[in-house]
Amino acid sequence: MYADVIVNISSENVDKPYQYLVPETLADKIRPGCPVVIPFGSRTINGYVIELSEKPQIDPSRIKPVTGVAAKINPVDGRMISLAWWIKDRFGGTMNQALKTVIPSSKKIKQLAVRTIEPIASREELSSLLAEAVRKHHTAKERFLRELIEAGRLDYSLTVSKLNIAANVIAKFESDHVVRIRSEVVYRNPFSDIDRSGFVKNKLNTAQQAIADEIRADIDAGNRRDYLIHGVTGSGKTEIYLDIIEHVIENGRQVIMLIPEIALTYQTVKRFYMRFGDRISVMNSKLSAGERYDQYLRAKRGETDIVIGPRSALFTPFERLGLIIIDEEHEGSYKAENVPAYHAREVAFKRGEDENAPVILGSATPSLEAYTMARAGLIRLFTLDSRAGGALMPTVHVADMREELRAGNRTVFSRVLRELIEDRLNRKEQTMLFLNRRGYSGSVSCRSCGHVIKCPHCDISMTLHNTGNMVCHYCGHTEPKPDKCPKCGSAYISSLGLGTQKVEEKLKDLYPSARILRMDADTTASKDSYERILSAFANEEADILIGTQMIVKGHDFHKCTLVGILMADMSLFAPDFRAGERTFQLLTQASGRAGRGELAGDVVIQTYNPENYCIEHAAKADYVGFYEEEYSFRKVMNYPPARCMLSVLILSTTEEEAARISEQVRERTDAYLGKNAVKENALQARLIGPADAPLAKARDIYRKIIYIKAVDYSLLINIKDLLAQYGDELPESAALQFNFNGGTVHGTEEHQKRRRSDP
Ligand code: ADP
Ligand code: ZN
Ligand code: ZN
Repeated sequence: MYADVIVNISSENVDKPYQYLVPETLADKIRPGCPVVIPFGSRTINGYVIELSEKPQIDPSRIKPVTGVAAKINPVDGRMISLAWWIKDRFGGTMNQALKTVIPSSKKIKQLAVRTIEPIASREELSSLLAEAVRKHHTAKERFLRELIEAGRLDYSLTVSKLNIAANVIAKFESDHVVRIRSEVVYRNPFSDIDRSGFVKNKLNTAQQAIADEIRADIDAGNRRDYLIHGVTGSGKTEIYLDIIEHVIENGRQVIMLIPEIALTYQTVKRFYMRFGDRISVMNSKLSAGERYDQYLRAKRGETDIVIGPRSALFTPFERLGLIIIDEEHEGSYKAENVPAYHAREVAFKRGEDENAPVILGSATPSLEAYTMARAGLIRLFTLDSRAGGALMPTVHVADMREELRAGNRTVFSRVLRELIEDRLNRKEQTMLFLNRRGYSGSVSCRSCGHVIKCPHCDISMTLHNTGNMVCHYCGHTEPKPDKCPKCGSAYISSLGLGTQKVEEKLKDLYPSARILRMDADTTASKDSYERILSAFANEEADILIGTQMIVKGHDFHKCTLVGILMADMSLFAPDFRAGERTFQLLTQASGRAGRGELAGDVVIQTYNPENYCIEHAAKADYVGFYEEEYSFRKVMNYPPARCMLSVLILSTTEEEAARISEQVRERTDAYLGKNAVKENALQARLIGPADAPLAKARDIYRKIIYIKAVDYSLLINIKDLLAQYGDELPESAALQFNFNGGTVHGTEEHQKRRRSDP
């Protein structure tokens, strides 16, 4: 056997691996990630095994043997390499791609200057400037001065991007000699000067305490488990995380806290900073390669205890990892888009298991995957039913838009929504209008009865193409668009849509004096405008916020007591087996925005399908009811998490080639399944397609897709490996891409049952 060994893991292309012979005596010790001693030129040096193979790449007589296993070498690098190997194996791609995912590049390190804003004016002068800003309703200045007085000094880029203060406002304070701006090249914690002495942590309520106690007890007993905290928005999940994190770091171990980037706001980070001070470090996608590498080294040297960040923070090289938390575990952003398309939840379970660190998942709307695991007893489930601090859950109204049409209301706002908007304008409270445009493009539905045309084979909505044909992107089934609704005969059948701009215009016609903010792809095109619009709304600079970007965490809009959801059912008909789940999540999370403060809230869900189970359960805030119906749908249709699913994307510069390769993929898979029928439980696997991918052609590349569903994840891995070999033989003009969709490290429920009954 031969081992590919690298000597410097942090260089751009993970260097070139060198091949060594594994002597018989070491064969059972050497694994990917294993540190080894090797002869290198005339010297003897250390390296890491990244892969094992049976094929020599050069003349075997010239391959030198590994000298031995290295004893004193940083184990964390080895752990990350074996994690990379596992990722490559589970999710596809090359070892080099996996290593790049796990280890940041050390090249191009450029120390960036960090700018800080420091006051020159005295505290009294600042206070009187603040009083003046308040009097004159200069909200931005007010926000700036308040934060400056509290923090003592401010990080320049955070102030502009997260606190939403325009650069010219800061420049004016600078020219008026109120503040000065300093540039430094050293790393500084952006919050390091906030005075934390007056900080008092919340005392957990009984429900929170019960959960925290159980998890702490498991940790103290060395009883590693994984957990899911299912708690409604505002139920105090974050407060529980803080409590357990504190316990873990008191025990001398380290914590990775994953939060979707979109929820990683100034307020959220500050909450962690107030509790843990300098021991936290924050990652985000805006860091340069150099800054990321700097953070990486700080973690490796043990200079931080807690890292907070999106998906990639999972690869923080802590030596003494003691806990991984994934907040908003259902978020789509935890799945990587590029190869290797890993899911952070899966990798977290693996890393947690390897390093003896528990994993806590948290969500108001857990993914089907997580909840299924919890139900199967693979992870421990905790539930929080009410909001912390006594805030009430909002009252939900469902407006049947077919009813509105019948009653002669042709506007986009239902009568109940208009009534409530007027009421809020009178009471000087705020309204959020969510326009659910997810999956809107192309589904064909009836405005009179709400019927949506679905594929007879897949139960997934058909997509209208320019040709006038409707196509199923799962199986390729095609039929012409009907002129009349097949259900009620109405001629009002088409792919309908509604834009935010349109909603804004109509709203202005109805309420000319209302202050309206709009958040969509147009208004958020410039950098940081997303956060700017949200903080303007949080600062009550507008009465109504219209948005397509649905879920917003980290901001509590205390004055927002009404949430209207327009076209709630749009996302139901996205050509995706998760469409129902996404809709339920969207409606629940959007509803959670209403009444977070002392004031009670209302939610209006406008729909053509009030009897749809996703809408019904969302309106009742009944997660479990939703889960049960959704899971039985997945089971009947063999979708994840009832089955594991591998999608194979076939890419080619010509359509003929794409079709030819797709056939090859199908034949090879069928042959494999046939040949291994008995051994591999092939009857439990099914191949669907090929069909045009949802994006059938992009940048002149033709895209076809094949789905393979199976009970066993390992069967899909074998098929992936087999097809990857074929992929390697393809000409330059074509490629295969693999994507594991759903299915968990722990396997499907059925698979688990079988495993448990195995002797
Ligand atoms: P979640 O993470 O479930 O959305 P949070 O932990 O953010 O919930 O809590 C929601 C709000 O309630 C926050 O403003 C938080 O400060 C407050 N809160 C949570 N737990 C407590 C508690 N035990 N005592 C007082 N306030 C609390
Ligand atoms: Zn109809
Ligand atoms: Zn179909």
